[in-house]
Amino acid sequence: MINIFGMPLAELQAALKPYNVPGFRAKQIAQWLYQKGVVDFGAMTNLSKDLRAQLAQAFVIARPQVKARLDSQDGKTTKFLLEYADGTAIETVLMRQPYGNSICVSTQAGCNMGCAFCASTLHGMARDLTCGEILAQAVVINDMLREENGSKVDTMVIMGSGEPLMNYAEVLKFLRLIHEPYTLGMGYRNITLSTSGIVPRMYQLAEEGLPISLSVSLHAPNQELRSELMPINRKYPIQDVVAAARNYADKTKRRVTYEYILIDGVNDGEEQAKELVALMRGQLASVNLIPINPVVERNLLRPSKARIDWFEGYLASHHVNVTVRREMGTDIQAACGQLRNKHLEK
Ligand code: SF4
Repeated sequence: MINIFGMPLAELQAALKPYNVPGFRAKQIAQWLYQKGVVDFGAMTNLSKDLRAQLAQAFVIARPQVKARLDSQDGKTTKFLLEYADGTAIETVLMRQPYGNSICVSTQAGCNMGCAFCASTLHGMARDLTCGEILAQAVVINDMLREENGSKVDTMVIMGSGEPLMNYAEVLKFLRLIHEPYTLGMGYRNITLSTSGIVPRMYQLAEEGLPISLSVSLHAPNQELRSELMPINRKYPIQDVVAAARNYADKTKRRVTYEYILIDGVNDGEEQAKELVALMRGQLASVNLIPINPVVERNLLRPSKARIDWFEGYLASHHVNVTVRREMGTDIQAACGQLRNKHLEK
């Protein structure tokens, strides 16, 4: 049977054509699927009983199951372990921010980019996720929020497990789908995509006409150290990544954010601060410092508060736009991949 969940309207209309379903009915079905949390055709009460029965014979509505849920003590962060029909599991995180509900979605199950500080890559990559599987992460949380308190998902970061630009076609299809008014109607400006620096795809993304924000995982200010922390840097060197990010900012007029995980004794020294300032010169960009969530398996530690403050102060005093990421969910291991790894190891 064909899974109907995750189809954009045009695909849905084509799939429903043999059943003589008119266009407006297809749109109603899309709303049941993506806005009303319906998981069986019997509940689509504005369709005739006959049609509901026919559809139930031909299609399934396959959404992932919530296998585990962890809530932070302050109640602001919730992490979900979701399992798809084939047993593949991924993580999605909900952060209740002062400006609204933000989610962090995964685009691949695991990741094969091999970043040294990241738990998502420890077991490699199982597979790419489809557009519908990525959308399902948002819809599952949106349904839950609606039932809890009538709220919804407001903003999204594509920063969970996986390198989104290595799953380009499905991720682009997903971005367009989540923007549609019959799904979550999410504004492109409320979406941030994070990449480890897949240079050709960064140029391609700049031409798509989607005003989403781009975030680049930098994590080191020079070729040698970045290659140690992020093996992808050997294929796409830091200077090329920065040039592609500049091009993105020029084309879209959107400020690029560079993510910089601060790791004690690795990339938090004066030398690296100086190099980072030089790299940022003249860019429409900001740097987001992220004190590392220690990855026990890799023995990478968080710098002291004084060192974090010093690094931030150095950048700010050299006219770099800098922020330090607010800590959310450390008590539930919000660093990507840690919950999934426990599940895999079980
Ligand atoms: S940081 Fe991102 S790109 Fe790097 S291994 Fe983790 S999930 Fe993959």
